[in-house]
Amino acid sequence: MTSKCLLVPFVLAALTLSTTFSLQPDQQQKVLLVSFDGFRWDYLYKVPTPHFHYVMKHGVHVKQVTNIFITKTYPNHYTLVTGLFAESHGIVANDMFDPILNKSFSLDHMNIYDSDFWEEATPIWITNQRAGHASGAAMWPGADVRIHKSFPTHYMPYNESVSFEDRVAKIIEWFTSKEPINLGLLYWEDPDDMGHHLGPESPLMGPVISDIDNKLGYLIQRLKKAKLWNNLNLIITSDHGMTQCSEERVIELDQYLDKDHYTLIDQSPVAAILPKEGKFDEVYEALAHAHPNLTVYKKEEIPGRWHYRYNSRIQPIIAVADKGWYILQNKSEDFMLGNHGYDNALAEMHPIFLAQGPAFRKNFTKEAMNSTDLYPLLCHLLNITTMPHNGSFRNVQDLLSSVTPSQIPYTQSTTLLLGSVRPEEYEQEEAYPYFIGVALGSIIVLVFSVIFIKHLIRSQIPALQDMQAEISQPLLQA
Ligand SMILES: [Zn+2]
Repeated sequence: MTSKCLLVPFVLAALTLSTTFSLQPDQQQKVLLVSFDGFRWDYLYKVPTPHFHYVMKHGVHVKQVTNIFITKTYPNHYTLVTGLFAESHGIVANDMFDPILNKSFSLDHMNIYDSDFWEEATPIWITNQRAGHASGAAMWPGADVRIHKSFPTHYMPYNESVSFEDRVAKIIEWFTSKEPINLGLLYWEDPDDMGHHLGPESPLMGPVISDIDNKLGYLIQRLKKAKLWNNLNLIITSDHGMTQCSEERVIELDQYLDKDHYTLIDQSPVAAILPKEGKFDEVYEALAHAHPNLTVYKKEEIPGRWHYRYNSRIQPIIAVADKGWYILQNKSEDFMLGNHGYDNALAEMHPIFLAQGPAFRKNFTKEAMNSTDLYPLLCHLLNITTMPHNGSFRNVQDLLSSVTPSQIPYTQSTTLLLGSVRPEEYEQEEAYPYFIGVALGSIIVLVFSVIFIKHLIRSQIPALQDMQAEISQPLLQA
């Protein structure tokens, strides 16, 4: 018994040693979510994008991400941080009218700061903060709006003239401060801006995509310099893709509708139409068969797969243009060579999705996911409880390495983690301490187990002999 009592602390010590090497403290859980607005899934292959491919090689890549309808910026960015369809999170378009609040929301006029529009959902930064963590957002759409009386712990008021480098500097500062954030959100306006301007099929988009790749390279370099690269989970995604438009493919509403009969709330490629009182049937009939490339729905007939019906901000009639077609009230209005907002089943509307970090598998490609699945994945990584959402963690669980977040290999910051370290080198850094720790721990446990069993057998031998004698006696009697 004495030997048993002595061995228990040794075994416990050995187990502790092995866990010290293999477990990562909770405060080490870090996630940086990056959105390059309008980065279509196949831009990765249009021109060489070495930094994107570098992340793919050392992390995961999802080939097809189905975003939400309508495939616009604000609805999709809010989905990424809530896991909800537009009808549920309430940001149903970039331009909206709420008949109950009797208020408008418009990107063009920047009157997007009305909290009422955002409070049908709770974005992840708030849930993260309620769990006692800190969040930081660099220009993420909606992150400078007061929602449920809160802002992110740190945020930059939206200003498109702030450079990418300055946004990255803020993110790094927040991750490395005395009270560091565990969730960072970083947003950049391109390639959306240039995609609208040039059209995605323009050869001039090549340099635009190369520039984004360089920006990603800059971010990776800064993360390495700040010694964040090895213990931070970096997720790179986007809100939507882009399709080529043409002045030959314009649908002019003035040709079919009397201007005085309706208000045009949102324009192209999903026209949100609010008929004037008593004019619903007239407007609907006039538009229903107006153009072969325009599909017109009464609100209650909007296809269920779009999850775009049950919200008062969705107007009584919506008219959806076919891919590459443009809706204008008349040709005097602005026209863009590239646009998005179309059916989310169209490949051209799909964004990218890559991720790299201790929680993710390496060099792993997955066929498909939904953008609503990102939210439960983020909550899992941050160890926070999800709010009700439309995503599925099961759908994306296979992106993670077999270890759970609380068991992510822990790598202490060392001088090896420099910005100039080559990929193979820091992959080894990540792997060696972990495996050496596990191996050492296992060997110690094994050695002590053998000694313990030996002692046990020796101490039990006389008792066993007695037992055998007792068993044999009744047999002899019978
Ligand atoms: Zn966008």
